[in-house]
Amino acid sequence: MINDVYGTHGCAPDLIEIKDDSARILMNRDAQKFFTLRFAGGTVERKLVPRLWRPAKSLPPAGSGKPLSGLKIALDPGHLGGKWAKMEERWFQVGDSQPVQEGDLTLRVARLLATRLRDLGAKVSFVRNDDEPTTAKRPDDFRELARKILIRNGVPRPRAEVLDSTDPEKEKTIRWQSEILFYRYNEIRRRAALVNFKLHPDLVLCLHFNAEGWGDPANPTLTDTNHLHLLVNGSYLAEELEFDDERFEMIRRLLSRTYDEELPLADTISSAMVRETALPPYAYPTTNSTTKVGNSGYVYARNLLATRLYRCPVVYCEPYVMNSKDVFARIQASDYEGTRNINGVQRKSIFREYADSVADGLVDYYSKARGSGD
Ligand SMILES: [Zn+2]
Repeated sequence: MINDVYGTHGCAPDLIEIKDDSARILMNRDAQKFFTLRFAGGTVERKLVPRLWRPAKSLPPAGSGKPLSGLKIALDPGHLGGKWAKMEERWFQVGDSQPVQEGDLTLRVARLLATRLRDLGAKVSFVRNDDEPTTAKRPDDFRELARKILIRNGVPRPRAEVLDSTDPEKEKTIRWQSEILFYRYNEIRRRAALVNFKLHPDLVLCLHFNAEGWGDPANPTLTDTNHLHLLVNGSYLAEELEFDDERFEMIRRLLSRTYDEELPLADTISSAMVRETALPPYAYPTTNSTTKVGNSGYVYARNLLATRLYRCPVVYCEPYVMNSKDVFARIQASDYEGTRNINGVQRKSIFREYADSVADGLVDYYSKARGSGD
């Protein structure tokens, strides 16, 4: 698992040393404290890592027509949307058309998906169910930390504010850095606390829309490119494994065997999404931070904060290029029943297509794994 999934970019031998009957794992670099993980002699002696989620095989057989009965699913609509969308840089607008805000699109999909999953018997919870943050903190709470980080990163006297949207030095301002600490780090850590200490789901679905570089958000580039991929946790960078906390989270994930569940789940969901959307697989321009896994051709391992911190299987969906001409037209058409003509083709609402295809994938996976008989 270290070689093929988690440490595919290399892992320094002093961090994790694997011997015949044990592994020696560095716990704390400063204290030079090591943990010895002894391997079981066989499955009888094997001790499982305590975990609160249940693999599909351990769920009781599903009732007729309810292939997801008893399954606890948490939906995590990516980003915040609403008034936060511009700050998140998940906002663009073509002329006077409705602005495209990823956080609003993902929430819309999550609500449609929740209805479908509940009809199939699942117990559904939301990690976010409006356009406000999960964290009580705000960017201003991180100004002092932002200043310290910038100084440490070689900006001795960081500027307080961004000049304007074209400011080439904006990443060196306390404003920009404190916003990142708010929406990208603290918000995700609060979501993880909610998942790990309150919701205890069997599975988290992170819902996103992808994009290609759109340039100026007020005059964005539209493209013909459109694609799909899904992510599971893995593919840690060598320098990420140097951090005591990331190495710990990686070992915890490995030992709790989330990968055994999330990989076939992601493969099966991707097949259902391809059936419905006919989207080609996304190819990352480099293999520097991702590793292709599974057999569908659509699934990558990547070390994102959400896929790493949620202590259960996590499938992270990245369908649709929001600034592709087709997807943009479908977003502008909003949600509707049945089909409508979009750029000359009869299409379902993009929100329903997304939700339906994910639900279909879950039905495929859990029906097979639980042997529901229907
Ligand atoms: Zn996203």
